[in-house]
Amino acid sequence: MAKLKNLEELFHHELKDLYSAEKQLIEALPKMAKKAADPKLREAFESHLEETKVQKERLEQVCEKLGISPGRMKCKAMEGLIAEGEEMIDENASPETKDAGLIACAQRIEHYEISGYGTAAQFAESLGHSDAHKLLSETLKEEKDTDSKLNKLAKASINKKAMKEE
Ligand code: FE
Ligand code: FE
Ligand code: FE
Repeated sequence: MAKLKNLEELFHHELKDLYSAEKQLIEALPKMAKKAADPKLREAFESHLEETKVQKERLEQVCEKLGISPGRMKCKAMEGLIAEGEEMIDENASPETKDAGLIACAQRIEHYEISGYGTAAQFAESLGHSDAHKLLSETLKEEKDTDSKLNKLAKASINKKAMKEE
């Protein structure tokens, strides 16, 4: 494994981790959307899938500007979070309860991304990479917006529906 000798190299390492995370999500979100019983939840997963594809492209743009390859790193945390999402998909639960569980998994995922992009955007700013900072901040905002959209959906309807027994 190559030595990370300074913040610039740690920044590249973080970008590669995020790239892997987004790629894994592009595979996972359609499965979560398919299993969502509530049409609004399905729509939220589908629209975040489209955003996620753009987020992956933004990371490619950032890497291109820096003259590095986004690489083949595996984000093990996202792998684990998605595995938990798959366990929820397979859970023997009422559709309403499963929806509440899918939101819980999805919000864990968004929080992981918010933390990753928060760090990466801060590194970009500290290192003076203003284009990268701008692109990473755009994605950070989308992840935060998705988290609050899911929160509102849970609060307004999904959790209430899940309180009733079948
Ligand atoms: Fe993302
Ligand atoms: Fe990671
Ligand atoms: Fe996300």
